[in-house]
Amino acid sequence: MTQTEKKQVLIIEDEPDIIRGLVDALEFEGFAVASACTGAEGIERAREISPDCVLLDLMLPDDNGYRVCEALRQDDPVVPIIMLTAKAQEADKVRGLEVGADDYVTKPFSVAELIARMNAIFRRQNRMAAQDETFSIGGWEINGRKHTMTKGRNTKRLTFYELEMLKLLRERSEEPVSRDDLLEKIWGVQANPNNRTVDNFIVKLRRKLEEDHKSPKHILTVYGFGYKLLP
Ligand code: CA
Repeated sequence: MTQTEKKQVLIIEDEPDIIRGLVDALEFEGFAVASACTGAEGIERAREISPDCVLLDLMLPDDNGYRVCEALRQDDPVVPIIMLTAKAQEADKVRGLEVGADDYVTKPFSVAELIARMNAIFRRQNRMAAQDETFSIGGWEINGRKHTMTKGRNTKRLTFYELEMLKLLRERSEEPVSRDDLLEKIWGVQANPNNRTVDNFIVKLRRKLEEDHKSPKHILTVYGFGYKLLP
């Protein structure tokens, strides 16, 4: 990776040991790393540097990560945000995803796995930059460059992972796509049978896209396997 291609990562975290460990590991992997120890400082830094990815601690001294996440999202609707959470409860993770986080890792996490996920994000971002695609699902016009979905006068934002999931499902329209495949191709992680990440994103996408998210007509469940898109 040359200097100009370095991806910028912003860490918003108040535990010095975690910051130090992440900075070392990420710099070793060739990322440019900035860090902030409070939510307010993190939001300001993000405005200054427009990072390619944000790692956001859920428990910060001045504010909680959910509110920081919402503020980051308002400034930048598409930057990938990965939450670092000490809480193992599913409800907290779902709430994180609802306020605009793209993914989460639970402390203590494996730095190698975190880096694998980030590399997967950046690979897909590079590919995406070369494409300028639009496609339609359920009457919504999806714009891959603008990260939007539009129907009539109604326009909604799509986060990085939401768009990636739609694109992958759409590449294989009308074919069942396994959870493991989605997880590996998009998040770059080996399948873990307990991983609810994919299902959480499907819930979010259905809420945005389906007329009635409880009886979906476009993003269908293939029981015991994964999902299938009917555009
Ligand atoms: Ca903390």
